[in-house]
Amino acid sequence: MPEKPNAFAIAQQQFFNVADKLKLSAGIRAFLAEPEAVHVFTVPFKRDDGSTQVVTGIRAQHSFARGPAKGGLRFHPDVTVDEVKALSMWMTWKCAVVDIPYGGGKGGLVIDYKALSAGEKERLTRAFARRMAPVIGPDFDIPAPDVNTGAQEMAWIADEYGHTVGHPEPAVITGKPVELGGSLGRGSATGRGLVFCVERFFENNKQSIKGKTVAVQGFGNAGQYAARLIAGLGANVVAISDSKGAIHNPKGISIGAAIEHKNKTDQVTGLDGKEITNEELLQLEVDILIPAALENVITAQNAKKVRAKLIAEAANGPTTPEADAILFKKGITIIPDVLANAGGVTVSYFEWVQNRQRFYWTEEDVNTRLREIMRRSLDQVERTASEHQCMWREAAYRLAIERVANAVKTSRNL
Ligand code: NAD
Repeated sequence: MPEKPNAFAIAQQQFFNVADKLKLSAGIRAFLAEPEAVHVFTVPFKRDDGSTQVVTGIRAQHSFARGPAKGGLRFHPDVTVDEVKALSMWMTWKCAVVDIPYGGGKGGLVIDYKALSAGEKERLTRAFARRMAPVIGPDFDIPAPDVNTGAQEMAWIADEYGHTVGHPEPAVITGKPVELGGSLGRGSATGRGLVFCVERFFENNKQSIKGKTVAVQGFGNAGQYAARLIAGLGANVVAISDSKGAIHNPKGISIGAAIEHKNKTDQVTGLDGKEITNEELLQLEVDILIPAALENVITAQNAKKVRAKLIAEAANGPTTPEADAILFKKGITIIPDVLANAGGVTVSYFEWVQNRQRFYWTEEDVNTRLREIMRRSLDQVERTASEHQCMWREAAYRLAIERVANAVKTSRNL
């Protein structure tokens, strides 16, 4: 097996490429090239058999320049310090693209979390929360769910943190269940934010989204909401897929029925239409391709065969840099992950705002404010891309890095 590329080396290279173009000072480059803080903890917890296991826990805080750090917690055996550092840097740029007042953070536990019993999961998550408690907080660093963590883990962490500080503090973490201060609209936020971007893209190009054909790779949380909402605007979703296979139906797939089928059978195959492979789905002649599953699926090998006119990245990192260059030459626009899937972190920000205000919004309030932010951000990225004649990914990074660099310059005189 080829060795996994070092994510932090990639993140740094991406940053340096844009830093060169922005002519950032040596001081700011050096400062933003590393997280401001990286905490590595031993996290002991009791197994069901009475033995003690010690797990490595990590929390990286890339930047506090624009506000507290923000980002998820992933519990997975492949988590490394470098991966967490890279993800924390990417979160800084993502928050800055949509201009929400956060820097980037990320954390993880190096463990096969899925193999633990319910009791072990709770003891481990609470032990990690106690370790993190001195370095997180609503004004400092606000974790959230990521791979293998969800509302239950967030509830345990909020509870443990509340006991540590002596009062309930829901704003320490987002992605909580609604009854503990989670926000309405968080579940659909990533797919919804992406669809707001796509809708705005066509508006700016004086086209209607009605009748546009769409292929969605990955029919999970982000993919299902994106498919359902884009179909609601009159687009025609002609292909969907999951890890078991893909379905193509040029007449259009009923998304309501597809979600029901997926919930019942845990697959999309079996729906009306022709069975195709995930690779074939990426190469369909459609107006909009939405990768919503894994990273590195559009590569130097298949980019030449991609026939979509627009790619909107729900997944993180679905397009490799080599594929980016090929698609740019072909005139295919990519709404990059840092913009297209930023609806999730934006509604996490709304959750934190509501927790701090102790005043809760309706789902309509949440969606209206999300729409405003996504449309404004898309316009800014589009304008930057046209000003510099560059791909949208570079434009998004330019905007983000410039915002963070300006904050650092003003506050620290670097
Ligand atoms: P999910 O686990 O709910 O769904 C993932 C889907 O991808 C599943 O349907 C799965 O079957 C499918 N899949 C897995 N392997 C596949 C393969 N080889 N080919 C085709 N499909 C495959 O996850 P999600 O929350 O929807 O996240 C999807 C992507 O979006 C990830 O990259 C995630 O990082 C990104 N993202 C999600 C959110 C969010 O709020 N959910 C926010 C930002 C980014």
